[in-house]
Amino acid sequence: MRCCPGAVASLTYTNMAKVAINLSTGALQQEEVIVGIDLGTTNSLVAYIHPETKKPVAINDLGRGTIVPSVVHFTQNGETIVGNEAKDYLTTDPANTIYSVKRLLGKSYKDLGEHKDYFGYKIIDDDSEGLVKIRLGDKFYSPIELSAEILKELRARAEHALKTPVNRAVITVPAYFNDSQRQATRDAGKLAGLEVLRIVNEPTAASLAYGIGIDPSEEKTIAVYDLGGGTFDISILSLHQGIFEVLSTHGDTYLGGDDMDRAIINYWIEENQLVADTLNQDKNLQQELRLKAEEAKKALSQQQIYTSKVNGTIECGITRHKFEELIAPIVAKTIESCRQAMGDAKRTPEQIDAVIMVGGSTRVPLVYEAVSEFFGKQANNSLNPDEVVALGAAIQADILAGNRKDILLLDVTPLTLGIETMGGLMDSIIPRNSKIPTKAGRQYTTSIDGQVNMKISVYQGERDLVKENRKLAEFDLKGIPAMPAGFPKVDVNFILNADGILKVEAIELRSGVRQEVEVKPQYGLTDEQVEQMLMDSITHARDDVSARMVIEARTTAEQMLYQVERFLEKNGQHLKQEEINLTRENLQKLRDVLPSGDKDQILKAVDNLEEQTSPFAERVMQISIKQAMAGKKIE
Ligand code: AMP
Repeated sequence: MRCCPGAVASLTYTNMAKVAINLSTGALQQEEVIVGIDLGTTNSLVAYIHPETKKPVAINDLGRGTIVPSVVHFTQNGETIVGNEAKDYLTTDPANTIYSVKRLLGKSYKDLGEHKDYFGYKIIDDDSEGLVKIRLGDKFYSPIELSAEILKELRARAEHALKTPVNRAVITVPAYFNDSQRQATRDAGKLAGLEVLRIVNEPTAASLAYGIGIDPSEEKTIAVYDLGGGTFDISILSLHQGIFEVLSTHGDTYLGGDDMDRAIINYWIEENQLVADTLNQDKNLQQELRLKAEEAKKALSQQQIYTSKVNGTIECGITRHKFEELIAPIVAKTIESCRQAMGDAKRTPEQIDAVIMVGGSTRVPLVYEAVSEFFGKQANNSLNPDEVVALGAAIQADILAGNRKDILLLDVTPLTLGIETMGGLMDSIIPRNSKIPTKAGRQYTTSIDGQVNMKISVYQGERDLVKENRKLAEFDLKGIPAMPAGFPKVDVNFILNADGILKVEAIELRSGVRQEVEVKPQYGLTDEQVEQMLMDSITHARDDVSARMVIEARTTAEQMLYQVERFLEKNGQHLKQEEINLTRENLQKLRDVLPSGDKDQILKAVDNLEEQTSPFAERVMQISIKQAMAGKKIE
């Protein structure tokens, strides 16, 4: 359909589905297990509803424990190892061992900001808005692919332990995850061969695990305090008619139990008068102290005193009293976050009906006491804080499967709604299974200098390439003032009302230019067509994700070519002839590999060009600053 500016085109969804998804496959479906997955920064878990007890259980395959460390190691001969076995390589082969990949999901290099050096492996720095990539030797991985490795392992463990195929899952994400991070999590699930029924907020899952939110008539305000190994967040949720709304969230994505371990190590260093330099050089000693500190911390959750030695000589003793003194600033920081979150949610502690504890570090007695004191009530910690999110995700999966007849199912969108972005890719705005009414949006910009029009094409469907999806509408946002590429800010909002009518609006924020289209009842889809579209997205998941990655690599490459060529045109006079020649050579190499369709080759050429040219920008900046200064006189 074509829309002229100002015209109203319409299209409707006649077939709003109920979430009790019988759309996907045939009769076996009812028997199939749907799992709940907590894809964590440090640890991940998978849980399911036990068919007899109807209670959620975390899966412990082969007695290896329920917790799977979120660590992926790539061996020399191309094998992938995930979990505890991979963790051992963190010290012996850090460049090929990926941890904390969740911190990178859906992020651009710019987003990482000051935390770039946190990672022991190589993150590609193309200083762009593009999503980060990780380089291991000659291969490039996206955080989506690496997260998919963790999900594949969880899926395999579930299949092995339950002796049944596992094809569908609910995956949790932090409440503060943005659209791009949620989409990346969905994509990782798809790549692991899972149909992701829903992405659920971690605090919502934790509440469900405690039975809050199961009865739709319940009205409650809940605080979920989540202190893990490396991250902390507090979320204030309001539960109304079976829907959880996040009122506020606060936290520190670089604060957790690891900081407590470090506080203990520093104390031991002081007590034993260890010299920092010797310690810095002795990786083994560092590692032993780290393990010992964690052991001490865990022991002090039960007892008052801990004593041990490292290397037979270094005294590693600590009392609970001392430990509490050391970690007091960490705990105080988290309580300050709670205060902020309560302020943002406009709630007082008396208005909080329940406080839920999540994450291994909430086992520390001081943490429990401080949180209970702040909220003026005993926090809920009867469930295992490591498992509670996965258990809740399993409950949500069970609800979505329609197994809980007592639960009201809400109207949802049967298929994802999104728009076309560079290279014909589908950018999803409202994911399928979102309850309606709903509203979502994203910001876009131009890719060419002086671009004054932007075409907005609206699609529905689950495939990565828009050509495989259904086109609903298209319009041009005209009259964007001419600006350099990347300057205009275009907000695209999707508003889906309770009748399933979709309004798409695009606004350029600097100029206020605005255009909208209302997508109304034209062609309804049959349930069979929806079913087919869902099936296709799973069958083609691998190919789709590969195609997406090649297109993304190509787009990054094209932008890089455009920028470097423009740079040479404008600033060539500041470069030496050899530098210009080498840049031209590298530009040509990149142009040559572009048609190859090999994302690793393309990204390698981008990386080379980037590494070679990145010092230029700074040099040119210095020259312009000098020139500007020279032009000014001090009176
Ligand atoms: P999570 O990221 O939620 O898996 O939490 C892991 C963190 O919980 C790590 O820093 C662990 O050292 C910490 N942890 C686990 N068990 C205990 C315990 N019994 N007492 C104190 N901290 C613990």
